[in-house]
Amino acid sequence: VREELLHQLQKHNLEKQVKVIKTGCFGFCQKGPIVLVEPDNIFYCQVERNDVNKLVEKHLMEGQVVEELLFHEPDTGERHQKMEDIRFFHNQQRVLLQNCGLINPEDINEYIARDGYFALAGALNQRPADVIDQVLKSGLRGRGGGGFPAGKKWEIASQQEVTSKYVVCNADEGDPGAFMDRSILEGDPHAVLEGMTIAAYAIGASQGYIYVRAEYPIAVDRLEVAIRQAQEVGLLGKQILSTDFSFDIGIKLGAGAFVCGEETALLHSAMGARGEPRPRPPYPAQEGLWGKPTIINNVETLANVPLIFRKGWQWYMGQGVATSTGTKVFSMAGKINNTGLIEVPMGTSLRTIIYDIGGGIQGERSFKAVQTGGPSGGCIPEDYLDKPVDYDSLKEIGSMMGSGGLIVMDERDCMVDIARFYVEFAQDESCGRCTPCRVGTKRLLEILQRITKGQAEMEDLELLEELAYDIRDASLCGLGQTAPNPVLSTLRYFRDEYLAHIRDKH
Ligand code: SF4
Repeated sequence: VREELLHQLQKHNLEKQVKVIKTGCFGFCQKGPIVLVEPDNIFYCQVERNDVNKLVEKHLMEGQVVEELLFHEPDTGERHQKMEDIRFFHNQQRVLLQNCGLINPEDINEYIARDGYFALAGALNQRPADVIDQVLKSGLRGRGGGGFPAGKKWEIASQQEVTSKYVVCNADEGDPGAFMDRSILEGDPHAVLEGMTIAAYAIGASQGYIYVRAEYPIAVDRLEVAIRQAQEVGLLGKQILSTDFSFDIGIKLGAGAFVCGEETALLHSAMGARGEPRPRPPYPAQEGLWGKPTIINNVETLANVPLIFRKGWQWYMGQGVATSTGTKVFSMAGKINNTGLIEVPMGTSLRTIIYDIGGGIQGERSFKAVQTGGPSGGCIPEDYLDKPVDYDSLKEIGSMMGSGGLIVMDERDCMVDIARFYVEFAQDESCGRCTPCRVGTKRLLEILQRITKGQAEMEDLELLEELAYDIRDASLCGLGQTAPNPVLSTLRYFRDEYLAHIRDKH
C-alpha cells in the first residue's frame, strides 16, 4: 500500500505536497492496513493496493472522502470518518499509546514535538530521591506480570552503596497472543528510552540495556535508530541536557526462550550465561548484572514513567483504581470481532473490553471464557464478566493480569484442550532446572492428553489436581509456580468438561 501510494503521488506530481509517514501500529489489527489522512483526520481501513488510486484521486486531488474505505460498525452499519468516533477507539483511554500510529518512530523530532523528553528534563531538575518518591506515590506497578511497585524496586537499588548500577528493560515478551511490548517498541521507542533514563537518574546508574527478543526485528531496528538519534542530540551519553548525569543504553538480543522473561534468567542470559533462574534473595535490585544493583522493568512499565512526570503523579494515581493505578494495554485475540491492541484504565470491566471495544464474539456465537495472563493466568467464565480488571481482582478469581494477553473463547472451545495447550507450552519452555517443573509439567501434560483422548479414569482427575498444587508450591521460579494456573482455573469453573471427557470417553 505504501509503495503504491508513493508511486501514485509521483505519477500525479504530488510528492512535494503530500508526505507519506510510516508509523507504528494503530492497534486495530482486525481492520488493517490503515491509512490516516492528515490534517483532515480521515481514517481509512483495510486499504488494499487497488484502493490507493481512488484514495489519491478522490481524496487528495478532489478533496472528497472515499466512503467505501471508511470503518463501519458491524452491528449498526454506521460509518465513521474520524478515528475517535469508532467505538473501538472511543471506549479506550490511550495515554500510553498516544503516539502509536501517529508519529514516525524513526524521527526523534516527532516525539519531541509531542512533549517527548520534557519529563526527563523535569526529572533532572529534581533530587533523585524526589524522583523515586513521585514514582512511589503514583502507585505504578510492574506491568510485566507480578505487579510489584516499580518505585519500591528503584528505592531498593538506590539504597545500595556501590558505584556501578544498571537499568534493564525487559522486552522479552513471550506469552502466546501477547504483543503489547512489541507495539510500544515499534510505535514509540523513545518513550521507553526516556523512562529508562529517568530510572537511571533516580538510582544512579550510568548504563542500561534493553533485553529484546531477536524475533522482533522491526522493534530492534527502531530501538537502534532511536538510541542513535538520542545520542546525537545529547539525550543519551555524557552530560545529558548539560547536567552532570551520564547514561547510555545498549541492546541485548534474546534467543526466544520464554523463561528469559523471568528476571534472574534474563540477567544470566544478558551476561552470556545459560538463561536459568536462580533463587531470590538476593534480588536483582541488590545483586543483578555482574553482581551490581540492577532494576529490571518491563517495556510498558518504563513507558509509563514519562507520563508520571509530564502529567504529575497526582494525575497518574487518579487513573484506574486505588490499588492498580494508571491504564493497562491489552492485546485481544481469539474469537472476538475486533482483535487488536487496546488501552483502558485499570478497573475497566471485562464486559466493556470484550463487548464495547472488542465488538463481541465472532459469528454471533456465545462467549465461553476469557484467558488472561497467558500461560501463567487462568480462564475466566461469563459469571465474572463484570469484574474490574486489576491486579487484585483477577487474582481473586484464579487468574492474573500477566503482561496483558487476553484470549477470548466461544461456545465451541473445549476448556480441557485449552488447559492442555498452555501446559504443553509451559512444559516445552521449562528450563529444566528444578524437578517439580521439569518432571511435574510433563506428567501434568500426560494426564491432560489422556483426558482429551478419552483414555483417562476418575483417579486421573484427583492426580491432576494434586500434582497441579504440588508444582505450584514447589517450583523454583514463576514459570513453574504459575504453569498449573490454566488447569486449576478450568477445574474450578469448567470441571464438568473434564468429567464429560472421562465419563463419555471422548
Ligand atoms: Fe526452570 Fe521451571 Fe524450575 Fe523455573 S520452575 S527454574 S523454568 S524448571
